[in-house]
Amino acid sequence: MIKQKAGLQIGIIIVFLCIALWHPVCSQPQTAQPNKNYAIVLHGGAGVMRALQHDIPKQRQYKNALLKALSIGDSLLKTGGSSLDAVEQTIRYLENNPLFNAGRGAVYSSKGICELDASIMNGHGCTAGAVGGVTTVQHPISAARAVMEKTKHVFLVSAGADTFARKVGLNTVPNTYFQTRPKSPGNKASGQTHSSPDKWGTVGCVALDKDGHLAAGTSTGGLSGKKWGRIGDSPIIGAGTYADDKTCAVSCTGIGEYFIRYSIAYDVSARMKYKHLPLREATREVIDQLSSNKGSGGVIAVDNNGNISTQFNTPGMFRAWSKNGAFEVHVFKD
Ligand code: ASP
Repeated sequence: MIKQKAGLQIGIIIVFLCIALWHPVCSQPQTAQPNKNYAIVLHGGAGVMRALQHDIPKQRQYKNALLKALSIGDSLLKTGGSSLDAVEQTIRYLENNPLFNAGRGAVYSSKGICELDASIMNGHGCTAGAVGGVTTVQHPISAARAVMEKTKHVFLVSAGADTFARKVGLNTVPNTYFQTRPKSPGNKASGQTHSSPDKWGTVGCVALDKDGHLAAGTSTGGLSGKKWGRIGDSPIIGAGTYADDKTCAVSCTGIGEYFIRYSIAYDVSARMKYKHLPLREATREVIDQLSSNKGSGGVIAVDNNGNISTQFNTPGMFRAWSKNGAFEVHVFKD
């Protein structure tokens, strides 16, 4: 009788162990299938883009910048580099380019300064790092990566995050370095938060490397005229950025408050994981839901097979991608 009971207990333990091994959770690094395919997608913000609709030279300027950024990530991936490096380096280029609302060229907060947010996530083991409201670190995306790799935390904000970045050796600059946009009385100290969808320029990147690993990152100056230390979705894991080798990598852009409320980036992954939807349907459903809740913006995503999806409910979204070296770039719904 005792022997029978012990046998039963051992049997139950074996069944539980089998289930646990067969159904691993996100936090356990996966041995991804090397597929030799690689893919990279980036965005430079979504919005109405009224001023750009008939300005072909300006559109060309943006497209060239997006293609340059794409070529940086693409060459890294082509030569066997990691998706994490491709995402970081692509975003660093965009942070340096004053055309975009990230790093140099960011919009002004109600204090008349640039307050920057960024996050990065590694789909291999679902590790992540983020910074919010930083004012001196030259590349917020690299600060986010340092949080992920050099601390046991995920999200550092304000002066603490700037101090951390300096302590780990990242380059810091005076805030005026970022301030390339003309200052109107409105973005000096009006206290008005500018959430018009006609503002754009947040940047993001998602990538799949040849080892089958995914990564995602997002960087922004946030909403123009933001006050009281407002932080949007871009540095919030699950809202503006998400990556899991088992599903996909996602970066978002738009009015951040909606992306936070509906955990948009994670929702794409969850629809793939639990509803078994293909990437395109998952992103489509998430943007449809965003529209029905009166949110505006878009997402870029890549799955672990290299499928790409870009979806948005605004008239335009700067976006570009390359799959095994074939480049595309778009602004409007063309
Ligand atoms: N999502 C960003 C924020 O709310 C802004 C943007 O993507 O344009 O801070």
